[in-house]
Amino acid sequence: MSGFFAVLGHPVAHSLSPRIHQAFAKDVGIGIDYRAIDVAPEQLPATLGALAADGIRGANITLPLKEAAKVACATVSDRARIAHAVNTLTATEHGWHGDNTDGVGLVRDLTERHRLDLRGRRCLLLGAGGAARGVAPALLDAGIDRLIVVNRDPKRADALVDALADPARVGSRYWKDLGSLGEFDLVINATSAARDGQKLDLPFRLAAPRFAAVDLNYGDTAISFLAWARTANADLAIDGLGMLVEQAAEAFEIWHGKRPDTDGVYQALRAGDRSLHGDD
Ligand code: NDP
Repeated sequence: MSGFFAVLGHPVAHSLSPRIHQAFAKDVGIGIDYRAIDVAPEQLPATLGALAADGIRGANITLPLKEAAKVACATVSDRARIAHAVNTLTATEHGWHGDNTDGVGLVRDLTERHRLDLRGRRCLLLGAGGAARGVAPALLDAGIDRLIVVNRDPKRADALVDALADPARVGSRYWKDLGSLGEFDLVINATSAARDGQKLDLPFRLAAPRFAAVDLNYGDTAISFLAWARTANADLAIDGLGMLVEQAAEAFEIWHGKRPDTDGVYQALRAGDRSLHGDD
């Protein structure tokens, strides 16, 4: 098979994407050349040009390159436009096409793997960075009733709410008011606080009876939020590993036209949980 694929990030050595895509390729019976390439943000345009000339067919984009990757695209999907971030690049004859598979990945993990019915849920989204922007439209499409966005920098929360353009269902609130927002059926941590060793100070009164809690982080960086969720009696408390696998499956299908089985990869990564250090 001609052409190759890659994950681009900075750093990228710990990315789980090569392992995931190789396992998918094995599952559907194709061979792929999938590389991990460390790219400093200022080098992204030149690197993408060189990779296109070398015959790359697609790339996954991870931190901190997702917004810069969108700028490099000739065309983007609606979900990448709203997210202001691209995590999947496809080489076309007209240049790069950018997509964002984070949202569909999260919704598929919640609804198919964890059998969570999102319809009618009152949802709190903590964070307004690239990941929050990626998952918010998909949550609305999945039928949640209300989405409240709270971000440390309130201007970013407002910008996300504006981009979603659904004032009947979506609003922003200040972080300092978390204690008086009422109860939520679904609380999503889309912040990177734990990556900097910081712990979120969340009131237990956010938790509705039988609420679900999701941390988009996984491995060690999900420990403190999930501990909060369990102490608050969450019915479901999960990390972002399933989302990681599902967003990769969506990218794989875009490139190869085949949907891989995700459960085997998910279980294998889960079994080796202690070694998870993904940056995707
Ligand atoms: P960004 O850098 O774009 O955004 C970071 C967000 O975290 C911002 O909203 C920022 O707030 C907030 N934040 C950072 N530190 C704190 C703090 N101490 N207290 C409160 N808020 C804080 O990152 P991404 O949105 O791309 O990623 C967020 C997390 O989601 C990452 O840890 C990433 O690993 C994970 N992720 C997981 C994926 C998966 O497949 N499971 C996919 C994508 C991301 P402010 O705007 O005020 O700075």
